[in-house]
Amino acid sequence: ASASMRRALLSVSDKSGLVELAQGLRRHQVELLSTGGTYRTLSEAGIEVKEISEHTGFPEILDGRVKTLHPKVHGGLLFRRESSAHVDAAREHDIDPIDLVVVNLYPFEQTVARKGVSFEAAIEQIDIGGPSMIRSAAKNHAHVAVLTDPSQYAEFLEELDRHGGKVPDKLLARLAHAAFLRTSRYDHAIEQYLAGHAGEAQEDLPLTMSMTYGQSATLRYGENPHQRAALYIDPDCLYATAVGAEQIHGKELSYNNLLDLDSALSIVREFRDPAAVVIKHNNPCGAAIADSLANAFAKAYEGDPVSAFGSIIGLNRPVDQATAEAMTEPDRFVEAIIAPSFEADAVDVLTTRPTWKKSVRLLQAGDLTANEDQRQKSMRLRPLEGGMLRQSADVGPSGFEQRKLVTETAPSDDQLKDLEFAWTMVKHVRSNAIVLVKDQALVGVGAGQMSRVDSVRIAIEKAGNRAVGSSLGSDAFFPFRDNIDLAAKAGIAAIVQPGGSKRDLDSIQACDEHGIAMLMTGVRHFLH
Ligand code: 5GP
Repeated sequence: ASASMRRALLSVSDKSGLVELAQGLRRHQVELLSTGGTYRTLSEAGIEVKEISEHTGFPEILDGRVKTLHPKVHGGLLFRRESSAHVDAAREHDIDPIDLVVVNLYPFEQTVARKGVSFEAAIEQIDIGGPSMIRSAAKNHAHVAVLTDPSQYAEFLEELDRHGGKVPDKLLARLAHAAFLRTSRYDHAIEQYLAGHAGEAQEDLPLTMSMTYGQSATLRYGENPHQRAALYIDPDCLYATAVGAEQIHGKELSYNNLLDLDSALSIVREFRDPAAVVIKHNNPCGAAIADSLANAFAKAYEGDPVSAFGSIIGLNRPVDQATAEAMTEPDRFVEAIIAPSFEADAVDVLTTRPTWKKSVRLLQAGDLTANEDQRQKSMRLRPLEGGMLRQSADVGPSGFEQRKLVTETAPSDDQLKDLEFAWTMVKHVRSNAIVLVKDQALVGVGAGQMSRVDSVRIAIEKAGNRAVGSSLGSDAFFPFRDNIDLAAKAGIAAIVQPGGSKRDLDSIQACDEHGIAMLMTGVRHFLH
């Protein structure tokens, strides 16, 4: 089925493509109606068109606030063509059908984006008649077509030509959806502006949120093959992200890839030195900083080579050939690599090595330091059944700067470096989180355990004899001294943790008994 286009109402703020569209409609003998400014543009181009005020018998009034808000317009858009009662009512009130609405709205978004725009000027840019017509037409899309953007004109005319002046149902439905998408975003922009004006949005914790997640992609499936999934991207985000990265090679990204890539990038961007991280199931199983990216990668991969099989790699420098060579050593297998960029000869190695999986996904995130101030203010969402949690990102001061030495033994310079590394890493491990670090490389991780002492045990087991002389980081305080006793037995030399337990003194005393150095930062870094 389809709808015939006999009468159209054109009322556009952005006049681009208007004349060509009108000419195309005239070719199909569509009668044209339009509002003041649109009427002038069309008649100046020599196109036969009638003013809407002539059609309704009612003038445009109130500086254009009321132009098309008239029963002859909305009746003409809304009456059901297949209902004899509706057709009779339309005839009785002298309402002619309108089959096509072409409206684009006052540029509210662009207006409020400009600096120094007065409140009054912004309010005047709230289009009332336009959205009303769009909504009327879209509601009655069984019979009426609606165009809300010049980018739709060409396809619409092609369809009209192909179907002899008619519009197929499928296109009518698509246009109706696009119409409500447009009006919902328009209203959202107004809502955001008014929230700011009413003082409801706070600079540090905006309680309103961007719902305009623009581009979205359908993913093959979700966390598991039986789950459906899609990706949404915040078009207003200006800093480098995993979802915004450019994929230059490899298989399609999966839902789980995206989760891990996101974690990988958030870790490596913490470091100024060349840094590499190896992610599995959203936790780092290896991480290191070094004098070169290739060395950082090698150290990171050695952290836990068994777990690293099938991992996601994050790097904070452009990937060079030496790093690519290190990654493609025999028996190494990674799913995806994210970095600011890839040098051409690195791409060559990563996509042609015979011993290596050539479908590896390569993602270029761009400059990791750009627009850092926006990132510092960014928010994180967490879905709940029937609700949503929202918080500022854990990107503020880590607490290491204000650390206090609480033990008789002080850390050596090397241990201090490892403690700082451990403190940065532990923020990115699921709680309860324990990390062990030696020579600025992760050697053991205990993640996601329900008791802290279990995380300590797992981290020590992972580290093996590398635990001796290592530094331990804990994302939250130790509730009991058993953690320290375990650490001492494994030969751990230094500890960093927030402190704040009522049994802190027990832990400090345990450290002193074992000759362990301990720092307290006062800042907790749970990650659930
Ligand atoms: P024109 O340039 O043709 O005079 O005006 C076109 C603009 O007016 C379009 O952006 C359209 O959405 C808007 N418009 C159409 N009817 C009305 C109305 O009744 N009230 C208001 N406020 N805007 C309208």
